[in-house]
Amino acid sequence: MKKGKKLYEGKAKIIYATSDKNLVIQYFKDDATAFNNQKKSTIEGKGVLNNRISEHILSNLSQIGIKNHLVKRLNMREQVIKLVEIIPIEFIVRNVASGSITKRLGIEDGTVLKEPLVEYCLKNDELGDPLIAEEHIYAFEWASKKEIEKVKKMILRINDFMIGMFRGVGIKLIDFKLEFGRIKNNGRSEVILADEISPDTCRLWDSITDKKLDKDRFRKDLGDLIPAYTEVAKRLGILHEQSNVSAVNVTKLSSIKRKK
Ligand code: 5GP
Repeated sequence: MKKGKKLYEGKAKIIYATSDKNLVIQYFKDDATAFNNQKKSTIEGKGVLNNRISEHILSNLSQIGIKNHLVKRLNMREQVIKLVEIIPIEFIVRNVASGSITKRLGIEDGTVLKEPLVEYCLKNDELGDPLIAEEHIYAFEWASKKEIEKVKKMILRINDFMIGMFRGVGIKLIDFKLEFGRIKNNGRSEVILADEISPDTCRLWDSITDKKLDKDRFRKDLGDLIPAYTEVAKRLGILHEQSNVSAVNVTKLSSIKRKK
């Protein structure tokens, strides 16, 4: 597949055109940002790990019938994905209170929620992705009621599946962010899961120690982000348990191969 021109560059990913108008290439960068771009860094190897972890989760979701944009992983940093029209909403799913909800509502960090809580945020960096009500989505026509009803059903299945998948490898799924997009299917608009699912977009705590295995290691200056993401990949069976190859080495290896 031929990589075309750059269509869009976000905080953690770049989208390139391909020779097929319905497909694009998604490139995972090593850049990390937090607090609405106020904190920035480059963490070598992060993109490689997120590419692999997201591929693993999205292909597993496909197998349980959750349609998503992933076509195939191309290499260490790139995936072929379906071009979607992104719905401008971040869907936040919470099983345990942590992060912004603890500050906004004064809920104690680590409080287990009786049922999964779905929150909506407008995808708008300039406004800091503000929390919105479901009614705002309809008032400003960001999505239709039918689309949101479908998304809500998908979200609950995704959450159930991911809770089980992570529980099986000793990880608690605290919360995560999802994005959805529209594609045309036989002339009809259809909503599918888009973007990535990785330790950048989830809170993942070790089941026994509550050690953070996600982007909070960067947000809270806890360090050791690559070892934490590598631990997630190893537990999911993506990297071999006995493998001593760090993500950084993997990155270097792939760039050496490409230069040949
Ligand atoms: P919070 O609202 O507590 O900041 O985030 C809730 C969950 O959604 C966390 O797992 C967080 O990583 C994810 N999340 C929310 N907004 C964003 C975002 O703009 N980018 C990324 N990568 N994750 C987000």
